[in-house]
This record gives sequence, C-alpha cells and structure tokens, in this order.
Amino acid sequence: MIRIDEEKVFSEIRERNPKTVVLNAPEGLMMKAQELALKIQELFNVKTIIIADPCYGICDTFDEEAERLEADIVFHIGHNIALERIGKNTVLINAIDDVEFDEVLRASIPTLKKYGTIGLCTIAPYLHKIEKVQSFLKEEGIEVIIGKGNQLIRKGQVFGCDFRTAFEIKDDVKAFAFLGQSIFHAVGIALSTNKPTFMLDPYYKEVSDVTEMASNLLKKAILSVYKALDANLIGVIIGLKEGQRRLERALKIKDELEKRGKKVLLLALREVKNERLIQLQKIDAFIQTACPRISMNGEIFDKPVLSALQAEALIRLLDGKDINDIFQRCIWC
Ligand code: SF4
Repeated sequence: MIRIDEEKVFSEIRERNPKTVVLNAPEGLMMKAQELALKIQELFNVKTIIIADPCYGICDTFDEEAERLEADIVFHIGHNIALERIGKNTVLINAIDDVEFDEVLRASIPTLKKYGTIGLCTIAPYLHKIEKVQSFLKEEGIEVIIGKGNQLIRKGQVFGCDFRTAFEIKDDVKAFAFLGQSIFHAVGIALSTNKPTFMLDPYYKEVSDVTEMASNLLKKAILSVYKALDANLIGVIIGLKEGQRRLERALKIKDELEKRGKKVLLLALREVKNERLIQLQKIDAFIQTACPRISMNGEIFDKPVLSALQAEALIRLLDGKDINDIFQRCIWC
C-alpha cells in the first residue's frame, strides 16, 4: 500500500497557517491526493487546489502557477529526493510503497548468483527497502553494491534522467538489480551502464531481464538520429515546465548544429506531443531538451524527435564519429 507522509503536510500547515495550498502528484497518486485534499479542508479549513495536469517527475513543479493561484504552499507528492523544499514555496512530501519484495527476491537468487557482485538501484517509493534487500541478498552469498547519493538524490536512487548511482559503480559490478515495476527506469540503468539488468517486480513477483529491451531501444534511438541526419531545418524545443527549461542546453545544441551547416529554429512547448509538432510543417526533425522520456516512451511522432543525448549523437555523427554509446552517460538531460 502506498502511504503519503500526511503528518509532514499537517505539521507544515499548522506551522505556516496558509490560506490556500496546492497539491501536485503523479497520476498513480491522484486518488490519495484527493483524499488528502478533503482531509486538509476538513481539519484546517484551508482552500486546497489539486493540480490536475500530468506530473511525470520531480521536474514537474508548480511553484510559479501556485503563486498565480495565490497559494502559500505547494505540496509536491511522491518524488522523494534528498531535499525537503525546492523553489519558493514547494515542499516535497514523501510517498512510500509498503509492498513486500520477499517473494521476488527469493525468485531472483538463482539469476543474481550467477553474477557474483551486483549493483542495486530503485526509485523513490522503495528507497526505504534498499538496505534490507541488500542484507537479504548478502545472506544468500551475493555481493551487493549500492551507489552513494548526493545532496539531490538518495543512496541507490535513480530518476528517468539521472542514473549516477548506477553509473558510478558500473565497473565494480557484473549486473544490476532494479527494485520496482518501472521498465523505463530498469532499461535506463541497462543503457546507462551497459550491464545486464534485471527488474525485480514486487507486484507480479517476477524477475525480468531487460537487457534485450534496452538493446532494441538503443537501435531505435540510433535509427532516429540517422533519420534526422538529412534534415534541412531542425526545431530545437525548450521545455516550458519549471524543471525542464534548459535554455542554455538548447542554445548550445543550436549553435553546434549551425556550425555544421544545419538551419535551426527555437521552439518552446509545455507538452511535446505529435499533435502540436505536426503544425510545424517546415521543420524536418525536432530535438527536445525537456525530458529524455519523451523521445523514448513510445509516443508515435511523424518526424524524428531526438532527446538532448541523441542531439549530441547527431552532432558526433555529423563529425563522422561513432554513436553506439549514446546513452552511456550518468545524466540524460
Ligand atoms: S525530466 Fe523526465 S526523466 Fe527527468 S525527472 Fe523529469 S519526467 Fe523524470
């Protein structure tokens, strides 16, 4: 069961006595967010507004919009990181998942034992399990290494665009185990580290080898870069979401492409969707600097839509260099 740290929400309200608060949560926590909003209104008589737009990650904060809504606090739920607060008024609220890993761990032992030493990673809701899982596997004779965190991410934590806790230990381990049910994160670890990676799903109690899936995704990503190679006019998109505005990165990509003879137009978008891009008929290919998932998560685009890492690969390709290691980076934004 997923539990939101409601006590932290309530103590923040008691301390700051706000008139209006905003709740911001990913889709999977919308039911809980509604329940929490009702509790806040009943217990504290505070106006509570739920952001019903999609929220995909810690980058999807709503500090500026909250100010326009005259809210004093934004509670951003479910993307636990090492920070307590970000922006002017955003307070990060943990949500943890109590699901047990025992069964899938037992099922994983024969597979993981073959590798001797493994790296262990997970996402926010399961971070509180990681040390217990490490001890369990060690007792079974499997050496387990967990990457250190820093001031932003916790020990063993990965995001969809930040694999540094896996990347930093990749040369010390033979394979990775990812705790959770997110193929995108598991595949990201495999692509970033170039190591066999297994997803340990506590719900289906299944161990999935995602290494081949990663290799197929790499082939698709490389194909998109080749498709963009012949583009005359390239649109470089700057994300408009608070945590996705990478203006400098976009300008650098524009500059590098222009130096290599490409024409470039800068664009700004909040949601990068095919239905918006098809309006821009003059443009032959797009590069979006907002979020790597947009280019990899299966959305069908009529024209190539490269991520920032694929844009770097395109630049290398224009220089006649190899691009097979596109994703072997710790940060993907
Ligand atoms: S930019 Fe994309 S991958 Fe990174 S945190 Fe945001 S939603 Fe996740």
